[in-house]
Amino acid sequence: ETALDDRTFTKHESEVRSYCRDWPAVFDTAQGSWLTDVDGNRYLDFFAGAGALNYGHNNPVLKDALVDYIVRDGITHGLDMSTRAKGEFLETFAAKILEPRGLDYKVQFPGPTGTNAVEAALKLARKVTGREAVINFTNAFHGMTLGSLAVTGNAMKRNGAGVPLVHTTPMPFDNYFDGSVEDFAWFERVLEDSGSGFNRPAGVIVETVQGEGGVNVARPEWLRGLADLCKRKDILLIVDDVQMGCGRTGEFFSFEEAGIVPDIVTLSKSIGGYGLPLALTLLRPELDVWEPGEHNGTFRGNNPAFVTATAAINKYWSDDALSVQVKAKGMEIAQSFEDLCQRHDGLSHRGRGMVQGLAFDKPELAGRTCEIAFSKGLLAETSGPDSEVVKLLPPLTMSSEDLAHGLQILSESVDEAFA
Ligand code: PMP
Repeated sequence: ETALDDRTFTKHESEVRSYCRDWPAVFDTAQGSWLTDVDGNRYLDFFAGAGALNYGHNNPVLKDALVDYIVRDGITHGLDMSTRAKGEFLETFAAKILEPRGLDYKVQFPGPTGTNAVEAALKLARKVTGREAVINFTNAFHGMTLGSLAVTGNAMKRNGAGVPLVHTTPMPFDNYFDGSVEDFAWFERVLEDSGSGFNRPAGVIVETVQGEGGVNVARPEWLRGLADLCKRKDILLIVDDVQMGCGRTGEFFSFEEAGIVPDIVTLSKSIGGYGLPLALTLLRPELDVWEPGEHNGTFRGNNPAFVTATAAINKYWSDDALSVQVKAKGMEIAQSFEDLCQRHDGLSHRGRGMVQGLAFDKPELAGRTCEIAFSKGLLAETSGPDSEVVKLLPPLTMSSEDLAHGLQILSESVDEAFA
C-alpha cells in the first residue's frame, strides 16, 4: 500500500488546493459524523462537505440503496436518457417535496454541480425576459463559472477571473445598512425612473442565508419585500438553495419560512444525499422555454445520485421528524454560541436551523479557533469576506451526544484562542 502524507499532494496537485491547508491530514474513511485519516485519527465533522453531506457520511440507508443498484447493474451513466432511477426520483421529488408544499415546478438537470444550476437559472432568466442584467447581493456566493462568479460578491473569488466579469447590479443584502425593509424603496424608484436609462433586470439571485458570505440571515419580511418587488416589476426571483436547501435551515427549502415562491430555484450539494454530484434547476412551468438541446451536458443526471436522492427523500422527508430535530439542534448550537458571546468580547452569533455562525471582530481569532479545534479532532471552517465567521454546518443527522461533544471542543477552542 502507498504511504501517503502531505508530500504526495504538494508534489502533484495544483496550488489552488484549499481545505487541505487548514486540515493537513490524509482522510480515508468516514461514517455518519466521523472521518478517519490514514493514520487512524478520528475527526468529528462540523462541516459536512460544505453542506453536501446533510445526511452524514456513508449513511446506511442510502448506502444500501446504492449498493443494490450497483449489484443489479443499474445504469450509471445515461446522459439525459429516461431511466428507471431518474423516473423514480422525479416521482418521489414531486410527491414528497413539491406537492405537499403546493409548489409547481418543472425539474431541469443543468449539469453536475451547484454552479451549473446557477448558470442555467441565469441563462434562462435572460432568455425568458429578453433582458440582460441580473441583480446580485453584497457577500453573495453562487459558484465559480463565469456567470455564477459574476453574481458572486467576494473580491478574492472574483479575482480568480483576473479580468472584469459580466456586468451585474449589486444590491445591499439584508442588514447591510440598518436592515430596514425600506431598503427596496430606492431601488423601486430607480426602476421607475425612465430618465435614468438603466436597464430593467432579467432577474434577482439571492440566498436566504448567505453561507460562504458569513452566515448572513435574511429576515422573512425582507425576503417577502424582495419577492413582492420582483412580482410588481416583472423581475424573475431566483433563490439559490444550493447550500441552504435540503433541510439545512429546518425546512426542505430555505424559503418556506418566508412563505415566498421563487420563479426559479437551484439545488445541489445535499440533493444527491450521499455526496454524489447532482444539481437541479426548478422552474415555474411557463418558464420552460428551452428547445431540446439548447442547454445540454454529458453529466446531466447522475443515476447513482438519483438512487441515493430518492432514498434520502423517502427516509427523511416522508414526515417532519428531521425538520423538528434540525430546529432543536440549531437552538442548542445557538445557545452554546450565546454562552461564548457572554464570556468573550468581540463575538456575535447568527444563524438558522443547523447553519450557525460565530462572528469574531478579530478575524485571526476565527482562524485560530478552527486550527485549535482541528488539533482536538473537530472539523469546522470559517466563512465571510475576511474569514471572520466560524461556520457550523454539521450533518443534520448528527446525534445529540456528538453535537454536544463537538460544541464542547469548539467552546474550549474559542477560550484558548482568546487566552
Ligand atoms: N451556490 C451556493 C449558495 C453555494 O454555497 C455554492 C457552493 N458553496 C454554489 C452555489 C456552487 O456550488 P458548486 O460548488 O457545487 O458548484
